[in-house]
Amino acid sequence: MEWEKNVRRVVPYTPGEQPADQNVIKLNTNENPYPPAPGVAASLALLDADKMRLYPAFPEQTQLAEALADYYGIGRDQLFIGVGSDDVLSLAFMTFFQSGNPVLFPDITYSFYDVWADLYRIPYEKKALDGQFCIRPEDYRQPNGGVIFPNPNAPTGILMSLDQVEDIVAANRDVVVIVDEAYIDFGGVSCLPLTEKYDNLLVVQTFSKSRSLAGMRIGYAMGNPKLIGYLNDVKYSVNSYTMNYAALQIGAEAVRDVEYFQECCGKIMKTRELAKKELGALGFTFPESYGNFIFASHECIFAEEIFRQLKANDIYVRYWNKERINNHLRITIGTDEQMEALYRVLRKICG
Ligand code: PMP
Repeated sequence: MEWEKNVRRVVPYTPGEQPADQNVIKLNTNENPYPPAPGVAASLALLDADKMRLYPAFPEQTQLAEALADYYGIGRDQLFIGVGSDDVLSLAFMTFFQSGNPVLFPDITYSFYDVWADLYRIPYEKKALDGQFCIRPEDYRQPNGGVIFPNPNAPTGILMSLDQVEDIVAANRDVVVIVDEAYIDFGGVSCLPLTEKYDNLLVVQTFSKSRSLAGMRIGYAMGNPKLIGYLNDVKYSVNSYTMNYAALQIGAEAVRDVEYFQECCGKIMKTRELAKKELGALGFTFPESYGNFIFASHECIFAEEIFRQLKANDIYVRYWNKERINNHLRITIGTDEQMEALYRVLRKICG
């Protein structure tokens, strides 16, 4: 058809499956197996349908912004809130990667980065992880149009030290460096304090993993007020009202309940450490993970085969048929009960 010549064509990101059957054990999208903080349900019950007549508040003027600013000890002008970190990252690509020079990111990483780069016509260059799947900071010293990487990296779970992160930020003062900390709360150390020293550093986090709110779509970025200002200019040029009323009302509760948050993250980390032992005993190897997932490969059975057999047993994990990682499974850490069910089936498959 003639009009197709003028269509912006993209190969979209493929998210993990969201099966309609609620009874499956879902270890495929790094969701949190525990409910959000009790205050979230309480505050949901107080939502007022009549308020939905109105456009929602601007995120920066809400209790959610106040709670985040308090929690991190930053000003509201150092904070940008969006519809999950995917929204924040997408806007950041659009805002900061405009030089025409290639943006650098790892070859094995969150597979949305190249999709956004393609969508916005941003050139990019993937830097190969080393043989142990580690990011090599020295690869990010060439001239470029910006840098982005997750820490810990996805889907490997490997954490870089603050020194290594600073090394990359310091070597790239003329471009924006985005550190995607979607999984930082499961044992990592955030590089947020570096934003005081480096005005080119944007730190992005999410409510989807450690705060059990993937369904509400809340993400945020922290950085120098100037960076945040530019991000807001682009956001308000696309859609003034991105965050819905419900998300803005309840989000603050998930931030304020620090005790519950720490307890949940603690439980997941404990289960993860147990999982390392169990999976190791079953013949899996994996890098040391600091995420709420483990990126595992079996010594003799192909990942795709294990993936298929797990699915036949109603256990969903993530598999990518992609070069270098096509013999790995990313297994999200669930509750102890869910993990026991996983080990039972794996013992049959791998035993
Ligand atoms: N960054 C990384 C590394 C992720 O794995 C994810 C989850 N798919 C996201 C960002 C986006 O998460 P969300 O949009 O739910 O905040």
